[in-house]
Amino acid sequence: MGLYVQKYGGTSVGSVERIEAVANKVAGFRADGHDIVVVVSAMSGETNRLIGLAQGIQETPDPREMDVLVSTGEQVTIALLCMALKKRGCEARSYTGGQVKILTDSSHTKARIQDIDVTPIRADIDAGRVVVVAGFQGVDEQGNITTLGRGGSDTSGVALAAALKADECQIYTDVDGVYTTDPRICDGAQRLDKITFEEMLEMASQGSKVLQIRAVEFAGKYAVPLRVLSSFKDGPGTLIAVDEGDEGENSVEQPVVSGIAFNRDEAKLTISGVPDTPGIAARILAPIGAANIEVDVIVQNTASDGTTDMTFTVHRNDIAKAKAVLEQTALDVAAGAVRADDKIAKVSIVGVGMRSHAGVASTMFEALAADNINIQMITTSEIKIAVIIDERYLELAVRSLHKAFGLDAAE
Ligand code: ASP
Ligand code: MG
Repeated sequence: MGLYVQKYGGTSVGSVERIEAVANKVAGFRADGHDIVVVVSAMSGETNRLIGLAQGIQETPDPREMDVLVSTGEQVTIALLCMALKKRGCEARSYTGGQVKILTDSSHTKARIQDIDVTPIRADIDAGRVVVVAGFQGVDEQGNITTLGRGGSDTSGVALAAALKADECQIYTDVDGVYTTDPRICDGAQRLDKITFEEMLEMASQGSKVLQIRAVEFAGKYAVPLRVLSSFKDGPGTLIAVDEGDEGENSVEQPVVSGIAFNRDEAKLTISGVPDTPGIAARILAPIGAANIEVDVIVQNTASDGTTDMTFTVHRNDIAKAKAVLEQTALDVAAGAVRADDKIAKVSIVGVGMRSHAGVASTMFEALAADNINIQMITTSEIKIAVIIDERYLELAVRSLHKAFGLDAAE
């Protein structure tokens, strides 16, 4: 018998019927003898509706009042779920973040959890109750209601699991796990049984939208086993856990590449004729950073004739701003032309298995070459190789790489 923290997202509690279905599930786990702490989101669409109301009054709503407002969404679901559980004879008790208490800093609308007092929750568990906690919210030192940022209920779930030393934090959502790549692009995409925190972070930061990135980071830091499962159909889901390293004779089964991630949100900027002198990279990138623009991939050429060129990518929304900043820098450092291209995409292969395998990059490049896809930029980490390509070839590249690394499901 275990202690599980189960988080149910907005679609899983999107209507009274769905809340009743969650109650059936939770009551079932209790009947099997498990201890259950439930974390819920607001009913789907509710947080957006509340934000809309606020914006009808103030274009940039007051952050403290915004938190008082948006935290009400989760308060509705904790109460309804507890009613549904009690109706089933399953003892349950609801708590807001402040009641628990989930102590955060005071950065309204993006607060960070500092501490959780689990004593009252433990007492309820010992008394045989299911504890239902409002996700997304906490309270600061002064007693102000805070929220953790969009998608923050995942982080609430993980933080509670860490504080309670739960056996698993289970994230119930509308997909049945983490996939090798987006099934909407690649028919052969398969659910992964298991993935490491590092891989999940690479997959998530690349645009896999299953879990809030902060929640994965948090779970990795405290080694909380995290499982993503569907609240609509049965199945084992995907376990996100620490890398157990080389598993002896089983290690042959470890795939070299676990998944193919991609991102269409980037744009690329090139500055040419840059004087090849020490400090020049900083002079080019510092104004970009000062303008609050995040840079992802950076490539600089070796110099010829005393000049070089530098290319880097930024978020597509920032391209106009970044280009203006870079054009000013080009004048300041006596560089040449600035070019911008927002018709690019990033495709990455991700896998901890790469650490112990050579030739992964060449397999990747050969697969892309076979489809005549030109690589514009390359960047690598220990467990990832990412390339920037023309966005027109994104889907083709994803499918080719999925196949080349043996990830396609058997027909
Ligand atoms: N209800 C909040 C949101 O929509 C938090 C969450 O669902 O995780 O962002
Ligand atoms: Mg969510």
